[in-house]
Amino acid sequence: MVDTAVRADARNHLDEELVALVAAVYASHEGLAERALAFERAAAEAGDERNALLGRLVRADIDNRNGRWAEGLQTAYAMLHEGADRVVAAHAHAVLAGGLWRLGDNAEAVEHAFQADRLLTEDDPLCLRVDHALILAIQVNDQRMGRVSEAEYRWAQELAERLGEPDMIVGNLNNWAWGLLQNGDIPAAMALVHRMFAVSTSSGRLLNTNCVDTIARILVADGQTARAAEILETALVEAPSTDSDGIPACLIAMAEIKRGAGDVPAAIELLERCRKTTISNRLAEMDAHALRLLADCHAETGDFESAYREMVEFQDAWTRRRSEQSEALTLVTQARFAVDEARRNSEHFRKLAERDPLTGMWNRRRCDAHLAARLEARSGPFSVAILDLDHFKQVNDTYSHAVGDDVLRQVAALLRQVAEPVGRSGRHGGEEFVVYLDADRDTSARLCERLRLAIAAYDWSSLAPGMHVTTSIGVTELRPEDDSRTVLARADSHLYTAKNAGRNRVIAD
Ligand code: GH3
Ligand code: MG
Ligand code: MG
Repeated sequence: MVDTAVRADARNHLDEELVALVAAVYASHEGLAERALAFERAAAEAGDERNALLGRLVRADIDNRNGRWAEGLQTAYAMLHEGADRVVAAHAHAVLAGGLWRLGDNAEAVEHAFQADRLLTEDDPLCLRVDHALILAIQVNDQRMGRVSEAEYRWAQELAERLGEPDMIVGNLNNWAWGLLQNGDIPAAMALVHRMFAVSTSSGRLLNTNCVDTIARILVADGQTARAAEILETALVEAPSTDSDGIPACLIAMAEIKRGAGDVPAAIELLERCRKTTISNRLAEMDAHALRLLADCHAETGDFESAYREMVEFQDAWTRRRSEQSEALTLVTQARFAVDEARRNSEHFRKLAERDPLTGMWNRRRCDAHLAARLEARSGPFSVAILDLDHFKQVNDTYSHAVGDDVLRQVAALLRQVAEPVGRSGRHGGEEFVVYLDADRDTSARLCERLRLAIAAYDWSSLAPGMHVTTSIGVTELRPEDDSRTVLARADSHLYTAKNAGRNRVIAD
């Protein structure tokens, strides 16, 4: 009792922590990877495999957002294997969508975003449904040219508000506002900015650098440059960051404002500060933006030498960005291939583990498993036959063990031809085979007789001159009171009777 209560308590705690983790991805990444790892371990300890894997995926998501795509994507791909937990697979798709999108593979990203959304149901953790709805809204809009598709943003917003996590609510408003800004719908974007401020104020959470960057750009477009500069300045001092490009984005936005106000030296200083981060964090795309602006600034002040140098560097940065992107995509393709290969191998080995190497038939283990499953189901008539080759020791002794092996392989082929269309067969071991038939006693006895004849009539002299092979068969129909042991024992006892009655015959109930 106590133990169950403790476990239930641990699970509740884990579910709460999952919400906090998923929301924190939208707030700040300070210490988040460590927290996700602790969650993963606690879940594993509590025997909660789903949460353990979700914790692992949160870490993969953080990797993706900080330029470690190969790690992040590889982890997520590995969780899409056959038989994966549905919720884990859904979240793996979400992480893949985010990672591929950051890499610039939008077409693939949107497919994963759809999967992530589709795989979840009403009963699944709301925090994941919100996360996936947010991702889908971005992806769908990224694929679209022209008007913003607001239905997805609205749905994500509804779910986020139902969950009540301010960072996710603001996260969606941020994406939505960015989309509207790109489309030049400034009044609508401004309305969302006000909502972002309102959530931040009422929850007491600071807006992160990515949100501030969006807001500042919308304010500038709305003519509120001073206000934009003010919030950027504050953010650069105190705002938390999620993606590693948050701070550089704010610095660039600030530099653009300064330059627009005619303070080119201040813009240059900000851009140089920005480049310290873009270079050290290998943010090639951001670096290219900063360089482009720097070149413009220097040209404006008449420093054409610097402007020229920066344009050349800009070209380099852009090329670097392109090659990093294609390198990362290559790594992703390789990761994907490795995972698929591992899956193929495990499938291959699973099949091997249930096959008899000599004949390729089901082995004893697989035969027993089939019988157990069939007994469990108890649907319709079912019979079990056991076949044993007659005087097989003599075949070996007379024609060699190798010929004996050939005989076993040929018997397997005959069993496949005659029995497989109506049932399943396997090698129990040695020269003994089993046939399971979804048929009553009479039908099964008739089929066994055909099998016996097929074996006796086969031209065995093609394997060894003068050779004959026959078999004895015991067959019985399943009875209501049977278990695996009793039904096999009855078939075996019929076989024994067949042997004693002179072999090469079928004995049924
Ligand atoms: P019975 O008609 O009473 O069944 O006589 P039997 O000779 O078939 O029966 P017994 O159990 O005495 O001999 C079975 C023989 O099957 C002995 C063994 O060498 C042979 N055998 C078992 N497994 C294999 C195998 O994988 N390959 C070959 N070639 N022979 C095998
Ligand atoms: Mg035998
Ligand atoms: Mg035998």
